[in-house]
Amino acid sequence: MHNTVRRAFLLLFVVGAFVAGTVILGFSFFRNSEEWATHRANNHLYSGGQISAAGTIYDCNEKILAQTKDGKRYYSTDSAVRKATLHAVGDTEGFMSTGVHALFESELTGYNIVSGTYYLSKFGIGNDINLTLDSNVCKTAYNALNGRKGTVGVYNYKTGEIICMVSTPSYDPENKPDKDTMNSDKYKAAYINKFLSSSFTPGSTFKIVTSACAIENIPDIYERTFTCDGELEVGGTKVICNGKHGKQTFEKALNNSCNSAFAEIAIELGKTKMQKTAEKMGLTSSFEVDRVPLSKGTADFTKAVDIDMGWAGIGQYTVTANPCMMMTLMGAVANGGETVRPYYVKSITTPKGFSTYKASEKRADEINLNYDTAEKLQELLRSNVVNYYGENVFPGLEMCGKTGTAEVGDEKTGDNAWFVGFSQKENFPYAIVVLIENSSSSARQAAIPVANTVLQSIGG
Ligand SMILES: [Zn+2]
Repeated sequence: MHNTVRRAFLLLFVVGAFVAGTVILGFSFFRNSEEWATHRANNHLYSGGQISAAGTIYDCNEKILAQTKDGKRYYSTDSAVRKATLHAVGDTEGFMSTGVHALFESELTGYNIVSGTYYLSKFGIGNDINLTLDSNVCKTAYNALNGRKGTVGVYNYKTGEIICMVSTPSYDPENKPDKDTMNSDKYKAAYINKFLSSSFTPGSTFKIVTSACAIENIPDIYERTFTCDGELEVGGTKVICNGKHGKQTFEKALNNSCNSAFAEIAIELGKTKMQKTAEKMGLTSSFEVDRVPLSKGTADFTKAVDIDMGWAGIGQYTVTANPCMMMTLMGAVANGGETVRPYYVKSITTPKGFSTYKASEKRADEINLNYDTAEKLQELLRSNVVNYYGENVFPGLEMCGKTGTAEVGDEKTGDNAWFVGFSQKENFPYAIVVLIENSSSSARQAAIPVANTVLQSIGG
C-alpha cells in the first residue's frame, strides 16, 4: 500500500515534468524559432556567413535596390545608388544594424511560424520589401555631399514617407574597400546611419527652439529690440557674435542669426523654461523609425549658469540634436503642430503576392508644438529665406528654414554646417535636414546649395 502511493506520486511527478517540459519547449520554439531558422549557420539563407537568399528590396519607383540571383545578393546596377542607399538597405555581412537586411531579416527570408523558411529553401525566394525612398533623390544627395561627411534626410510631412536618407562616408557594397582602408579616417563611422543613430551640436538651428520658448514666454518679444556690438558680455566672459548687427527686432535678430541677441534671450528665459521647451520639441526624446530607435539629443541645463545659458541659447554648450528629429520638428512646424512620424519601409509582400505589412500614418507625440507657436515659427523661418538667404537660393520652392554653423573641436577640423527647413508649397510638402561635418565654408555656403539641389531633384 505504502509502495503504491509512492509509485503513484512518482508517476504523477514524471507526467507533470513531461507536461512542463513540453510547454517550455513549445514556448521557446515559438519565441526563438525565428532566430534559430535565420541563424547565420543556416546554409539555406547564408553562404560564407553572408546573407545570400532573400526577397527583393525596391525603391518607391520599383527600382531594384537589392536582390538575389543564383544564390548571390546583388545591389542596384548604379554604383552611386548603391552608396547612397547602403545605410537604408544594409550590408550582407551584418555590420550595419540599421539596414533593412538586418532589421527585416526574417521578413526578407520569408520566415513564418508554420512553414519556417520553406519558400526560401524550396524556391530560393523570400518576401519583397518596398521602401519609400526615391533612389534618384538619394543619389543626388550623395553626389551633392561630394565626398564630405554628413547626412541628408527629406520626408513628406503630410504622409511621413522618407524619400531621401543618405549618410556619409558610405562605400560600394559590391566593391568594398579592404579592411585597412575601412579602418582609415576616410571611412570612420561608415557603418553608422548618422541620420537616425547620431546626435550633433545643433549650433544656430537651435535658435528655432530658443525662438519658440521666447514666443511662449516673453509676451512683448515682438516689440523688443536687441542691440549687438559683436559680442555679449556675461559676468566677465563673452559670447561672440558673427557680426556687429546693431539694433534689431526679434525677427531681424533671427534673420541675422545674431548670437548676442539669442544669448540675451536665453539668459532671460532661464534654464527651466529653456529645458522644458527643448524637451517639448522632442530634442531629448526618441521614437522608432521603422525598427530603429532615434539617437536622443541632449539639453540638460540643470547645472547651467548664465554664460552657459547664453551658449545654450545659440545651440552650443552641451546641446546636441539628432538630424532625423530636427527634420521631424521642421515637419511639425510646417504642419501647424501636427507631427507625422517618418518611415521608410512602405510594404512587405509574400512570394504569393499577399501583403503582410503596409505602413500607416502615425503621430509623433514626442513633439508637442501648439498651433500658434508653429504658425509664428513658420513666419520667422519664411522671413529668413525671403529677407536674408534670398528666394533665389531656393527657386520656386517657397522655402522656410534656418542654417547653423556649429563649432566642434578646434579651428582646423572646421565647423558642422546645418540647414533645416521645409517648403510651404501646397503640392510639395517636404521637410529637409542637411548636415555637413567639418565644413570649410559656412552653412549658408555649404548646406543651402545641397538642400536646394536635393529638393529640386524631387519628382524629376
Ligand atoms: Zn549679432
